[in-house]
Amino acid sequence: MLNIKSIKINFNNKLKSIYSSREINSIWNQWVVKELLKMKTIQYLTNPDIIIVEKSQAQINLIIKHLLSGKPIQYFFGYSYFKGFKFLVNDHVLIPRPETEELIDHVLNYVKDKKIKKIIDIGTGSGCISIVLKKKLNVDITAVDNSKKALDLASRNAQYHRTSIDFKLINILDVSQRQSLPKVDLIVSNPPYVLKEEVPLGSVVLSEPFDAIFVDEEDPFVFYKAICQFAKENLNHGGKIFFEINSKLVFQLIDVIKLLGFSHIEIRHDFFEKKRFIIVSS
Ligand code: GLN
Repeated sequence: MLNIKSIKINFNNKLKSIYSSREINSIWNQWVVKELLKMKTIQYLTNPDIIIVEKSQAQINLIIKHLLSGKPIQYFFGYSYFKGFKFLVNDHVLIPRPETEELIDHVLNYVKDKKIKKIIDIGTGSGCISIVLKKKLNVDITAVDNSKKALDLASRNAQYHRTSIDFKLINILDVSQRQSLPKVDLIVSNPPYVLKEEVPLGSVVLSEPFDAIFVDEEDPFVFYKAICQFAKENLNHGGKIFFEINSKLVFQLIDVIKLLGFSHIEIRHDFFEKKRFIIVSS
């Protein structure tokens, strides 16, 4: 029989070769203590001698194994949280990120006093952006992805949250496929924007779907360009595009978008003070 204190010491020891103590503590508090043991951090801290049942001990050992294989903890549980909602995730979708919660806030802030009827989310992945927007706004939402497996999961998430979203399997880079999409008042997108060289070897990010995160450094704005082209045809007058972006490439990206004929582009920062979002006006 082991108490929680000795289990935590073992957890640290097993993982410290590949994770920082900050990462280990954050996974321990959020996932082991809260999700698995259903305890509050304060309960665990004030009861170091509490005995952990064998079934939970076995689960913790499986978590250690999973983490040592370099996979994100969210794939072990099969879900993650985003804007307070629970979303199923698997290795076909990007795990929703906290910065994307801020993208949602920018959209919500903008929409609140406007007559917005139709929104499109391009590269929906788990469906988290569309589903949260649908929960909070009275709008029609179309959500697009080029991965059938991502859309299957997104549909399950939409069902779980009892939201109705029009999911479409479309490659936004393909002009002829884009033609079946509706006219919209607002576009929101968190497309792939990371360059391979930015991610260190061994990062958990490398266990997520490559195509959902990385772009070719030869053409890092390929999705932004396609979405802006789409906007020229399908974004209603006065509409806006809300993009999450690679903060390191912000000024190059803005130049590219200006060349496509959009002159009004605003930058927004994330909580790390990085230039993480742009808002493009039609
Ligand atoms: N922000 C994510 C990351 O840092 C990437 C999201 C994206 O590529 N759109 O891994």
